[in-house]
Amino acid sequence: MLLIHAGLLAAIKPNRAFNIMAVLEILEFPDPRLRTQARPITEVTDNTRKLIDDMFETMYAAPGIGLAATQVNVHQRLLVIDVSDNHKEPRVFINPEVTVLDKELGDYDEGCLSVPGFYETVHRPRRIKVSALDREGVSFTEELDGLLAICLQHEIDHLDGKLFVDYLSPLKRQRIRKKLEKSQRQRA
Ligand SMILES: [Zn+2]
Repeated sequence: MLLIHAGLLAAIKPNRAFNIMAVLEILEFPDPRLRTQARPITEVTDNTRKLIDDMFETMYAAPGIGLAATQVNVHQRLLVIDVSDNHKEPRVFINPEVTVLDKELGDYDEGCLSVPGFYETVHRPRRIKVSALDREGVSFTEELDGLLAICLQHEIDHLDGKLFVDYLSPLKRQRIRKKLEKSQRQRA
């Protein structure tokens, strides 16, 4: 047993040796902390980058394609996204500001790590322009469409205390809330 255990440790060490990351707890609907309005980040520091690394670790472990700081109970305007299927396109958006380029709405079946197990159709603008800071604090502006545009709007909603269930009918939202509260009670 000891030998096997040591072998396992050796196997995971190369990834972990230089940067110890942590999987953070993700808040779940209807936790009221998810309704917090996040504050802009005034300075991108090593602490910000540590949080970014932990958020990627948490998102990949879940697994998910986007995570807002609000979801890990940090109320700063920061979100991470990776819509690739092999963790190859990590994207960081700090203090993101969005302009809608095309009023035409697209519909996607959205899910959310804070609303686990539920997927519902949400309508959002297909094409947007975003201005934000990257993990080094350097500003950039980019036009986005497709899944990345949808995901970014979903994550920015989190920073404003909003969830995708808010776009659904009150009846549907209530049904999801009841089911999640029940599973949260069973886990407690
Ligand atoms: Zn979400």
